Amino acid sequence: MPRALITGITGQDGRYLAELLIGKGYQVHGMIRGQNNPKARIVQDEIPEIELIDGDLTDLSSLIAVVEQVQPDEVYNLGAISFVKLSFSQPELTADVSGSGVLRMLEAIRIVGGTNNRIRFYQAATSEMFGQVHEVPQRETTPFHPRSPYGTAKVFGYYTTANYRESYGVHASNGILFNHTSPRRGLEFVERKISNAVARISLGLQETVTLGNIDTARDFGYAGDYVDAMWRMLQQDDPDDYVVATGKTWSIRQVLDMAFKSIGIEDWSSYVATDERFRRPAEVDHLVGDASKAKDILGWEPKVDFPQVLEEMVRSDVESERAKAGLA
Ligand code: NAP
Repeated sequence: MPRALITGITGQDGRYLAELLIGKGYQVHGMIRGQNNPKARIVQDEIPEIELIDGDLTDLSSLIAVVEQVQPDEVYNLGAISFVKLSFSQPELTADVSGSGVLRMLEAIRIVGGTNNRIRFYQAATSEMFGQVHEVPQRETTPFHPRSPYGTAKVFGYYTTANYRESYGVHASNGILFNHTSPRRGLEFVERKISNAVARISLGLQETVTLGNIDTARDFGYAGDYVDAMWRMLQQDDPDDYVVATGKTWSIRQVLDMAFKSIGIEDWSSYVATDERFRRPAEVDHLVGDASKAKDILGWEPKVDFPQVLEEMVRSDVESERAKAGLA
């Protein structure tokens, strides 16, 4: 039975990936950080087959112990400070977890794996590395120009991954993933903030939602599709870097249009306020990916369209908010 280790198991992608791998017959180990982390319980309840193990990307000795104990065939490094706005207020922590954390995990793999290292490694890179874009659409050869501490930390992680591949022969790949979402997306991210607010507005639990820049656009996909691309990268004979994207963009205005329409509201202007405080100090305007390489080599294509995902997010938020509020 192949063994996988996933960092960031409590996050959106960790849970979808764990389900995918368990369905493929893997024994899946999820790394949990912190003392008595309440999200460990949620993961264990949602995915009873999973084995949880303690470790932190800021602590090399814990990572060595985790890799030694699990003896993984594949390591998926999804753990990160991943919310761009937070990375501006906690830049050093972001560099430590999302940047140096990659180096530490690769060191743990190098040390435990030894000279004939068979452990395969996936690094969760991001379209935010393109930042102020140098070409549209962005592909694997597009130069990076990150515009946040999150983006710069991820660029460090990207090159560190490539360096362990080239220097030590580790089967290490970067997935340059564009935005992907689901009902499991954290409430801090704009599309989920919108789906949740729209759900609460429809139930009379909230009057308005306040957002930052609503003219920015993103290439949004479905998280369930994107974790499949991660797995495919590690099944290749040779490690490499791949853009994973839909090639279509949606502005936040369009997201608002679709989400409000799904609850029967055409004119949402009186429900939405904007506030400078929700804007990033440096914005990223035109992220759209070209996933031709992933299609040609991995045979990967997105299956679920963003409007479908968004509708499901609003529906799922209506259900959970109704239950929380004790409404019939
Ligand atoms: P997420 O929901 O924000 O999850 C982040 C995970 O990182 C959580 O499980 C969190 O654990 C963990 N973490 C934070 N600090 C840690 C530390 N010191 N040690 C170990 N784990 C730590 O992120 P996601 O959306 O699933 O994304 C997964 C990965 O893909 C991230 O690296 C993200 O940057 C990257 N990515 C995401 C997208 C996207 O659109 N979703 C796009 C491109 C790249 P706690 O629960 O304990 O905080």
